Amino acid sequence: MRGFRSDAQYCSFCGKPADDNRFLVAAPGNNIFICDKCVAVCQSILDQKEHNVDPIEMGDVPSPREFKAYLDQYVIGQDYAKKVLSVSVYNHYKRMSNKTPGTDEVTIEKSNVLLIGPTGSGKTLLAKTLAQKLKVPFAIADATTLTEAGYVGEDVDSIISRLLQAADFDVEKAQVGIIFIDEIDKIARKGDNPSITRDVSGEGVQQGLLKLLEGSVVNVAPQGGRKHPEQPLISVNTNDILFICGGAFDGIKERIAQRLNSRVVGYNSDKTRDNIDFNNLLQYIAPQDLKSFGLIPEIIGRLPILTALQPLDRNALRRILTEPKNSLMRQYIKLFELDGVKLNVTDEVLDYIVDKAVEFKIGARGLRAICETILMQQMYDIPSHPVAELTITLDYARERMESANVARLREAYV
Ligand code: ADP
Repeated sequence: MRGFRSDAQYCSFCGKPADDNRFLVAAPGNNIFICDKCVAVCQSILDQKEHNVDPIEMGDVPSPREFKAYLDQYVIGQDYAKKVLSVSVYNHYKRMSNKTPGTDEVTIEKSNVLLIGPTGSGKTLLAKTLAQKLKVPFAIADATTLTEAGYVGEDVDSIISRLLQAADFDVEKAQVGIIFIDEIDKIARKGDNPSITRDVSGEGVQQGLLKLLEGSVVNVAPQGGRKHPEQPLISVNTNDILFICGGAFDGIKERIAQRLNSRVVGYNSDKTRDNIDFNNLLQYIAPQDLKSFGLIPEIIGRLPILTALQPLDRNALRRILTEPKNSLMRQYIKLFELDGVKLNVTDEVLDYIVDKAVEFKIGARGLRAICETILMQQMYDIPSHPVAELTITLDYARERMESANVARLREAYV
């Protein structure tokens, strides 16, 4: 045989000879070898075995009541949304643990969730806290940064590579993770006639997302970013990934009011009108409002659980400052404690912080900025001149706020 040498060494696994591209490792004693390519294959088999997670056992999944109790520790108010989320997450994992094909004809469909509420009302916090309780990988994506594949920007599949990163590249874990897609309202179709020009950031992205929501196998680049032809891709099945979408849907209240009004007129009954709370229209949100807002019907169909969050009132903002397990105040107290300082913030100051957040209309998101403004100088000085105890008084808080660039603070959050 041409090229055959009697002393040639062959991989005992794939049978190929050693050459410039194939390096053989010999077993001690015998004429047995393994090539570097087969070592790599063995390694990937071992990796898979090591990372093989057990399917989620229903016994490990907290009950809806337990979920809700956990959420209560971190998220203030939003009671109804918490219940809806707790039930849908519980059902989601129940659906996964009951996948024995052929046992009966009932297929439980996935129940992705759409949370509607003003910015800073706790949508992201709710999704994040759920994932924390479940100990599943969690990724956040901003729909406004997404574009159709092939256009400049992040393509939709990049969301999955982010989840994969959160799962330390463990595909099995990523496949049961939770993805929060924020600002989904911003990819609503603009205008009623999408066929005239390509709507790169709107309907195209919705179509891309639809593929993920429906459940499909997505090939993603391991390190995220763009796919390169020479880079091996990782396949992730999105079938069991729970998607929670969020959006403020500015202007949707008018659409809801319009719909409700026309219904009221239709029934011609003042009594029906009396039953409608026009101050809290979001609670009446229905799929047709989302359609008229510009979401495609297929996406709406894949987000069957629809719930609205309430805008946070003064009372809720005040509670947010101190009550959650890792509330802002607890965090500042801890920060000062690490420098050996006992921080006291008077109730008057807490009320003042809330007043400012309400006055600037910056909601919960702005509470931190106000706290930072008030405490900044102390956080700068204390490490060099430690004291045993520091009390923040109303006069001091006022003085700090008055000397700060409040205009910038307001601009940043409005
Ligand atoms: P959204 O996603 O609705 O825009 P976030 O969940 O990102 O709002 O909220 C921003 C921040 O405001 C959170 O990190 C949290 O500190 C605070 N926050 C908002 N809503 C609540 C709430 N209901 N309970 C506790 N903290 C909240």
